[in-house]
Amino acid sequence: IKWTEGRGWHDAQLQPYAPLSMDPANMTLHYAQSIFEGLKAYRQPDGSVAVFRPDANARRFQRSARRLAMPELPVETFVEACDLLVEHDREWVPGVGEESLYLRPFMFASEVGLGVKPANEYTFMVIASPAGPYFPGGVKPVSVWLSEEYVRAAPGGTGEAKCAGNYAASLVAQAEAAQHGCDQVVWLDAVERRWIEEMGGMNLYFVYGKGADAKVVTPELTGTLLPGITRDSLLTIAADLGYGTEEARISTDEWRRGNEDGSITEVFACGTAAVITPVGEAKSARGTWTVADGGAGEITMKLREALLALQSGRAEDTHGWMHRLG
Ligand code: PMP
Repeated sequence: IKWTEGRGWHDAQLQPYAPLSMDPANMTLHYAQSIFEGLKAYRQPDGSVAVFRPDANARRFQRSARRLAMPELPVETFVEACDLLVEHDREWVPGVGEESLYLRPFMFASEVGLGVKPANEYTFMVIASPAGPYFPGGVKPVSVWLSEEYVRAAPGGTGEAKCAGNYAASLVAQAEAAQHGCDQVVWLDAVERRWIEEMGGMNLYFVYGKGADAKVVTPELTGTLLPGITRDSLLTIAADLGYGTEEARISTDEWRRGNEDGSITEVFACGTAAVITPVGEAKSARGTWTVADGGAGEITMKLREALLALQSGRAEDTHGWMHRLG
């Protein structure tokens, strides 16, 4: 679908997957007006297909567009575009389980010209690809590197938008994490460099206590972290399962202390791609610590199972989150 100043959205088309040709002066290549989303379609037990919370992704896409001075795509158009592609690629939606069809809606400036200003033309597209289970050999805890040198997002910046530039800026820290033998980077706040924000492509959760009295806590939305749809869904699912929930500021010192005195019992990351990933080990320039026993925690795995059961249609969709296609 194209957008042109004065004309709005027009020319929706379903096209075979093919390379795009681009003018060297395409404004996206120079000024990075580029935003995207990631969501999944799951096969349901009755053979139908359902997309998980596409309206939530559509609204986040609108917020990203506003921050990048791009036009907002109506929620219905976003959802309809995803539906059309899923309908067309129906046979590519894998069977019931952790497999899914991953959808990648994105929008970029398509005006040609040099000069820093919001473009007058944009293109919105959706592409799709089957996605296998994130952990084919069973869930494996990841190790994380706390980035104290680089920051992902500063107050007033684009941290809560899902824009391409945020990811470009994060790659050097991801490489640093790998150099330290870690799978993922954990971002801290830009001002004090001590408040935990999120990971490269996932939000974080801390479990305090054990059993039925446990509380799950996630860093609050400060404007510099991405409001994940999985993060949001888990606040509800955790409450459904009877756990306490809280959005709060958590410092690196609190994490270390909580780990030492046993008050923090599990840590996990969550996002569309990996659903829920236990965090087994954390490292920073000041040392390494094992999170609880370094394994996949009981509550982490309960939440993971509850979310997957909902997405794959094994559990009742009590919150109306599954957008069913006929
Ligand atoms: N943080 C970042 C930086 C991400 O890229 C993602 C993936 N979209 C997330 C968090 C998790 O968001 P969601 O649950 O919507 O996939």
